[in-house]
Amino acid sequence: MALRGRVLAPDPHARKLIDWPDALIRITAAGTITTIEPTPADCTIPQSWPGAVILPGFVDTHLHFPQLRILGSATGPLLEWLTTTVFPEEARFRDNGYAESIADTICQRMASFGTTTAAIYSSAHPGATEALFGALERSGLRAYAGLTLMDRNAPPAVTLDAATALTELAALVDRWHARDDGRLHVSVIPRFALSCSPNLLAAAASFARRHALLVQTHLSENLEEVRQTAAAFPESQDYLGVYEDHGYTDARTLLAHCIHLSDQEWARVRDRDMAVAHCPDSNFFLGSGCMPLRRAIDAGIRVGLGSDVGAGRTFSMPRVAAAAYDAAQVRGEPVSPTELLWLATRGGSLALSQEDRVGCIAPGFDADLVAVDVPRGTTHEVTDALLFRHDAGRVRATFVRGRQVHGERPQRG
Ligand SMILES: [Zn+2]
Repeated sequence: MALRGRVLAPDPHARKLIDWPDALIRITAAGTITTIEPTPADCTIPQSWPGAVILPGFVDTHLHFPQLRILGSATGPLLEWLTTTVFPEEARFRDNGYAESIADTICQRMASFGTTTAAIYSSAHPGATEALFGALERSGLRAYAGLTLMDRNAPPAVTLDAATALTELAALVDRWHARDDGRLHVSVIPRFALSCSPNLLAAAASFARRHALLVQTHLSENLEEVRQTAAAFPESQDYLGVYEDHGYTDARTLLAHCIHLSDQEWARVRDRDMAVAHCPDSNFFLGSGCMPLRRAIDAGIRVGLGSDVGAGRTFSMPRVAAAAYDAAQVRGEPVSPTELLWLATRGGSLALSQEDRVGCIAPGFDADLVAVDVPRGTTHEVTDALLFRHDAGRVRATFVRGRQVHGERPQRG
């Protein structure tokens, strides 16, 4: 297959974007990019989506499957929102039929907004998580997903005891991990320290280490959460220390939010090469605060962007990038639109340790692509339009590994 159009994509070797005014991308039947080059003058292949720019698919490093139907519920801040809105909705995912009715929809929503890779929290229910993996397999999307582990401080309808959780995790790994040549991954997801007993935290960490799985959790989102965590784990030096003390110490750890970390915690995130999922739209909506993105980038920490649906109000990663722009402005520590588009693609692939396969449009990479309508212009004009013209920027097509998962078929000669 060959696709043709304007291409804007991260440089595989540098923190910058390459702008191809008119490029030809050749893709194998297995979905690997073989070449990208300026379109020759005598080329007879038409523009695949006239008026669109072709980008690497967006990487959403943080969202919640069971929160689709509560998206936009203004019942924050965090702990109140969890109690009044999230836990009652997540309890409905005990019913496999209910979970199945939402699983395909959330995959379609991601694909329709150009997201090709996502890191997804399920609920604590094995049946719902199975439904999510089934939908992900059908959708063609690339994903990291797993049970959301909770065994305390929440209603019994949304928790699972540690022994059962570990047994169910092992079954998920057997069925789904590395499925379809590594398109689907099982992830270990202790929701956050407050919802997990020390026993569950430690057991989940050793399970993740044994199977070399990505760990996802929340860290330092809200000041009251930070205060309650310190009270619940008095032996740990700080919030990050709670995770470290229970065995979460390596680069396969993806931490969502990281708004209220001390300088010392940031230094340890960097030294351990942990990754951060920055979720600015959610952070605005719940009044959680603004993460110091500029400092994290400059410290060389791997940062991806996360929609954090359903505290986040959109699946659109360009809109999340726009919120990240605003959050950086609020802090007086600006981050450029170019850097943010880089984070929404390449940054996410690095955060998920998929940097050899996705996040770039270059030979050897998987053809995870999105075509988005954009006005003609310079690189800066196009990037600004992609991020900030919320009413424009229609997603015309989405591909994962060369397979179309959403939108219009490319024009052919
Ligand atoms: Zn979250």
